[in-house]
Amino acid sequence: MKQPPPQVKYVYRFGGKHTEGDGAMRSLLGGKGANLAEMARLGLPVPPGFTISTEACAEFGKRGEKALFDLIRPEVAAALENLEKLTGKTFGKGPNPLLLSVRSGAAASMPGMMDTVLNLGLNDVTVAAMIKRTGNERFVLDSFRRFIQMFGDVVMHINSDLFEHALEALKKARKVKLDCELSADDLKELIASYRKIVKKAAGCDFPSDPIDQLYRGIRAVFESWDNPRAVRYREINDIRGLIGTAVNVQTMVFGNSGSDSATGVAFTRDPSTGENKYFYGEFLINAQGEDVVAGIRTPQQITKAGSVEWAKNHNISETVRRQEYPSLEEAMPECFQKLDAIRRKLEAHYKDMQDMEFTIENGRLYMLQTRNGKRTAAAAVKIATDLVAEGMIDERTAVMRIEPAQLDQLLHPVFVKSAEIKARKLTTGLPASPGAAAGMVVFSAEDAERWNELGKAVILCRIETSPEDIGGMHAAKGILTARGGMTSHAAVVARGMGACCVAGAGELNIDYKAKKFTVGEYTVREGDWISLNGSTGAVYLGTVETVEPELTGPFGAIMKLADKYRKLGIRTNADTPRDTRVAVKFGAEGIGLCRTEHMFFEGDRIIAFRRLILVAETVKKLKIQHNVKELADLDKIALNPADRNAVEQYRAALKALLPLQRKDFVAMFKALEGRPATVRLLDPPLHEFLPQNDNPKGQKEMAEQLGISVAAIKKLVAGLHEFNPMLGHRGCRLGITYPEVTAMQARAILEAAAAVPGAKPEIMVPLVGNVKELALQKAIILRVQSEVEKAKKCQLAVKIGTMIEVPRAAVTADRIAEEAEFFSFGTNDLTQMGCGFSRDDAGKYLTDYVKQGIYEYDPFAVLDQEGVGELVRIAAEKGRSVRKAIKLGICGEHGGDPRTIGFCHKVGLSYVSCSPYRVPIARLAAAQAAIRADRK
Ligand code: ADP
Ligand code: MG
Ligand code: MG
Repeated sequence: MKQPPPQVKYVYRFGGKHTEGDGAMRSLLGGKGANLAEMARLGLPVPPGFTISTEACAEFGKRGEKALFDLIRPEVAAALENLEKLTGKTFGKGPNPLLLSVRSGAAASMPGMMDTVLNLGLNDVTVAAMIKRTGNERFVLDSFRRFIQMFGDVVMHINSDLFEHALEALKKARKVKLDCELSADDLKELIASYRKIVKKAAGCDFPSDPIDQLYRGIRAVFESWDNPRAVRYREINDIRGLIGTAVNVQTMVFGNSGSDSATGVAFTRDPSTGENKYFYGEFLINAQGEDVVAGIRTPQQITKAGSVEWAKNHNISETVRRQEYPSLEEAMPECFQKLDAIRRKLEAHYKDMQDMEFTIENGRLYMLQTRNGKRTAAAAVKIATDLVAEGMIDERTAVMRIEPAQLDQLLHPVFVKSAEIKARKLTTGLPASPGAAAGMVVFSAEDAERWNELGKAVILCRIETSPEDIGGMHAAKGILTARGGMTSHAAVVARGMGACCVAGAGELNIDYKAKKFTVGEYTVREGDWISLNGSTGAVYLGTVETVEPELTGPFGAIMKLADKYRKLGIRTNADTPRDTRVAVKFGAEGIGLCRTEHMFFEGDRIIAFRRLILVAETVKKLKIQHNVKELADLDKIALNPADRNAVEQYRAALKALLPLQRKDFVAMFKALEGRPATVRLLDPPLHEFLPQNDNPKGQKEMAEQLGISVAAIKKLVAGLHEFNPMLGHRGCRLGITYPEVTAMQARAILEAAAAVPGAKPEIMVPLVGNVKELALQKAIILRVQSEVEKAKKCQLAVKIGTMIEVPRAAVTADRIAEEAEFFSFGTNDLTQMGCGFSRDDAGKYLTDYVKQGIYEYDPFAVLDQEGVGELVRIAAEKGRSVRKAIKLGICGEHGGDPRTIGFCHKVGLSYVSCSPYRVPIARLAAAQAAIRADRK
């Protein structure tokens, strides 16, 4: 007999006596499902249900709906029957109907991005039965109208505005403000309108068969995995490698069943500051699910202390607070006690800050969700260091807890106190996500994205945000909403992405049509500047001056831990003393790349350098013609006056540049206070220093400055034209043709080093592909070094090395190491030449390449480890084989990318170098790489 194929299990039960999953099964059950199972195992009051696995979602995508449903139907039916047994309720029938929620939940948390349907199982029969049983007609009808609305939106794809408008119209007609003020009769009328809306929009009646409702709900959740906003969210947050969402089918509990019922969201610690002052969260009485986050009503606080503080911030008197916005602690003390105990239990269990959803049904508390809470960077470092101090986690865990890229939030400016005091305050909202932001007001997410693309700083101003706005929120410098609490969509999403956000600024009157808002006597229109303080909730007119942030406290403590565990050195790419000082403040241990091009550009230098370029070709020809090597050799030869002039002009230009560059290097070495600096010799092609033909104004100016004709400049430009300048006469190729420029730069560097005690220059020859190029340039530098040492009577600590950025250099690195004391991997050019992608044009197709998975990431942002990384690995190995202690670093854009840093650790580089603001990120990423490697 043929064996049936082994049955894959798709359905996992939780709650009741028997829970099949647990917290470790995230990838199969999704985060929500795994944690529901874990909470049930911990004995917490979780309404029972079952999770359909993410594998089912993947199969749904592959085989289609029918095949999958045939596959899971027996398991679902059995689980449903089990639920009926556990609850004593029946699905689709009286006298005690079972209602369900159908909830999405992937392995990575994507709050609000996918769909959920509540109150599933209602139809005329079950509605009647529930009314009979509860005697609470209003509650049942409220649940039914919510169900039609959610199911209509999520499953039938009917524009939810249609329902929203019907609801608003009815409230207006009844002269009430809140949903919960509508009577049972009102709700009957509303349900009738909803049915009409469904019929008109979908061309059929609202489905009444509960089993049909259930499967359509399951399908909708599976499909929501690929809805545009979920796809966009995964893109923005770089969530990959997941196969789909799980579906959680769970017994409904009702926070909307009267004044002894409620629903809320709570955090075990404050998600914006990390403080553990009091139990932090918000709830609404007589409300369901989304009401708290949707910002429809003003939510109340969990603790009395929190409530009192909240009232103070909102100018609400104690009497009004107690009557209208009492805390959970006051309104439902027993439930509060239970919830408080659960938060302690959950935090101790997960050893991390939790974000929890709860519902109270007629005085009974239920837990509906827990997850590691999203938090600001400030909260992340505070919580991690506090948990170490409390003995809950060890130092390594604390280091691993913080997302390196998130640190960026802590490095950016905050408002200057005195400027902020003087600024014209428009209003105050909730401090939903910290930081300071100034920008021009726009009123839609699309406008935010569009303006941002035009390079404008914008503040996205909305009555409230919804998941569709995610792209615009990302594009905005700051987000301002008129409605919603600390757990509103805007607040949660902004904190997640580190954008400054002020939420629930209730005094704003926003008029989307007229693209303006009014507040008090002020009118602010689209394009007007405002400033937001996300740490206090203040909103100001105009732009407010900012200052650099503090780098001590928990941030400093985490950085110290990072330094303790990392093996890689961290340097910075800096060309100016100012950048150097910023980087040193952020913990840079030296400069990994100091580009010198600006030393030829700024101020008068460009004039001198253009004089040199003007005659450089003539001087080169003269040397060839007279078969001499050195400029000085030409002095002994009789030249015609024009040639003699050219030689003198060349020499004079070098002489003018020398002291200017020396001064620059002195300032750099001083800013470094004894830290090493890798200085790259001139790299770009010469044409970059000339005004091109598309710049007639610049050409005219240059002609006047140098006393030559525009035609002469055009001729020069034509002479320097290259078809592929990035592969052209640049890097050490310039130094080979014009050795005097190398000598001048070496002299400037070394004389500066002689003048600044402790200076540690490392002279780097760029674009070497053949060891002979390096040998020739090195000879020049060494000769200058001995001249300077002799003149200054000193010994200089100098290293001479090269950038490995040409693939030929990487594969002949053993030869090159004979001359080079260090390698610095210039991964921008190495990627360009290694992959054969022009950095300036590849944007057009690289996006497609990444979309189609040819490259996992843009290889210019994240090092292509398989290819370019292999060149790095080979070069490192070959380099070490010849010179054991050779110093190896990386200085491309990749140096600040946490993934690339992990790779650099593995290959055993000595340091990474990145832009100043990425230094703390690199320190942390390096520590994480080391810890990860140790754990393996
Ligand atoms: P999201 O992932 O968007 O938070 P959820 O699946 O958590 O979606 O559900 C949305 C809201 O509905 C939450 O407030 C949740 O607490 C509530 N909810 C979900 N299932 C139930 C249930 N069985 N009973 C009562 N409320 C529920
Ligand atoms: Mg949720
Ligand atoms: Mg380069």
